[in-house]
Amino acid sequence: MLMEQERTEIVEYLKMLITHGLTKGTGGNISVYSPELKLMAISPSGMDYFKLMPEDIVIMDPEGNVVDGKRKPSSEYEMHGIFYRERTDILSVVHAHSPYASILACLNWGIEPCSYLIGSAGRNVRCTKYETFGTEELAQSALEGMKDRYAVLLGNHGLLAGGLDLPTAFDTAEEIEFCAEIYYKCKAVGEPVLLNKEQMDVIIEKFAAYGVQPEAEE
Ligand SMILES: [Zn+2]
Repeated sequence: MLMEQERTEIVEYLKMLITHGLTKGTGGNISVYSPELKLMAISPSGMDYFKLMPEDIVIMDPEGNVVDGKRKPSSEYEMHGIFYRERTDILSVVHAHSPYASILACLNWGIEPCSYLIGSAGRNVRCTKYETFGTEELAQSALEGMKDRYAVLLGNHGLLAGGLDLPTAFDTAEEIEFCAEIYYKCKAVGEPVLLNKEQMDVIIEKFAAYGVQPEAEE
């Protein structure tokens, strides 16, 4: 089976979206890109994650043409493909409707650096303006919002994270959902003390050394 390992990994992580509280029902979607094959494996549209088999995962090129698989791909395939066309440091994308990230997204608030864990995505996490789900406009806005970052909040929608592989992208999604919760709860009782640029420089350096990622100035 084409990209069997990636398909199997996606099936496992889609269940984790639910069991880790990152999404409900069939919300969210996951993809993994193979730079060798220039193909992505992506979750199908609207299927029960606990009944999925590796063959239900759809194989597409980054332009959005189905190459293998009988299922209909996630309606957000364009939001995954655009990262594989435009960024070489992202080989997996995780999209979730996690509660706290979605609350901030509905306020159109980004996440400011109050917990050091935001360093897994960058200096902060932006929030894009609202775009309709499943559109090229949403994909473009997600790409811009995630510039020099590994996560972005999609306005009035949810969370998107990317990484060099699926475990890293999933981990970043979880860390950023946690940061969204902390930021929300801080704002509910007061004004969080934000980490300054020098503190974030050190954090980002340590995350990079730790095998994770970013760089880049705001
Ligand atoms: Zn969504």
